[in-house]
Amino acid sequence: MKQLWAPWRLEFILGKKEKGCVFCTRVRRQRDVEDLILFRGRHNFVILNKFPYNNGHLMVIPNRHTADLASMTAAEKREMFDLTQKAVVVIAKTFHPAGFNLGMNLGKAAGAGIADHLHQHVVPRWEADTNFLPVLAEVKQMPDHIQNTYRLLKQAWCKK
Ligand SMILES: [Zn+2]
Repeated sequence: MKQLWAPWRLEFILGKKEKGCVFCTRVRRQRDVEDLILFRGRHNFVILNKFPYNNGHLMVIPNRHTADLASMTAAEKREMFDLTQKAVVVIAKTFHPAGFNLGMNLGKAAGAGIADHLHQHVVPRWEADTNFLPVLAEVKQMPDHIQNTYRLLKQAWCKK
């Protein structure tokens, strides 16, 4: 994967860390719009990455706190893939990317930002997305920008 330049991720790297598991906190509290949760399934939920590598970067995350891929049940796995598939379809319809990166980083050594709770990344890609990415000035607009992305994807998600 070509390295993307996403300066707003510095906030994630340098910013204040939340106490406890950020994913478990989001599962528990019912603030889906603020938390950018697009969909809650039976075993997994779908959330926009607040520190995206690209516009429309989502994650599909099991509700259960685990870092152990081998512990996932058949139902959890199936739903995770179903939601991953739906995420690709919804992002494709909404933003028309040229491709996708899908996958999980297992463990800190593999680059997982949050290593204690499995999460599947869905990252849309454009041919020239290192150029496509906004310049530094847009970093400040990110909250607005991401809420707009959330609204568009939410609409597309709910449409049959
Ligand atoms: Zn957790």
